[in-house]
Amino acid sequence: MMELSSLYQDVILDHNRAPRNFRRMDDADCHAEGRNPLCGDQLTVWLKLNGDRVSDVSFEGSGCAISKASASLMTGAVKGKTRAEIAHLFERFHEVVTGRSPSEDPSRRELGKLAVFSGISSFPVRVKCATLSWHALKAALDQGSSPVSTE
Ligand code: ZN
Repeated sequence: MMELSSLYQDVILDHNRAPRNFRRMDDADCHAEGRNPLCGDQLTVWLKLNGDRVSDVSFEGSGCAISKASASLMTGAVKGKTRAEIAHLFERFHEVVTGRSPSEDPSRRELGKLAVFSGISSFPVRVKCATLSWHALKAALDQGSSPVSTE
């Protein structure tokens, strides 16, 4: 059994302490809110689109280290990508955090830094923390501004 503290690797701690793209975006094209009532995580993701591509992305909110660090890393990972590329990345990320991807799977390389969340798969209750920002991102991409919930 892995210890919970091993989840909090340096990358996660760093992104929790100093989240990237952590700001409100007043001129965003779309945004969506995400809530994870189980943990109390709550965040909003803003997007600027250039055709099919996400040209800018930011988030703001409060929650646990996992949700904040994941949102921070997510913004860095999806900026400049197309909807299709983002959908693909979310799928890979979801596989890794839910432990459905074997550890030598090439998708881990594809994920880059996002692979630090692979330890989450040992803590199913934390999966929702790690995927919250991605669900909000997806909702924003779908042009929905109504809140999404992991419940
Ligand atoms: Zn959380």
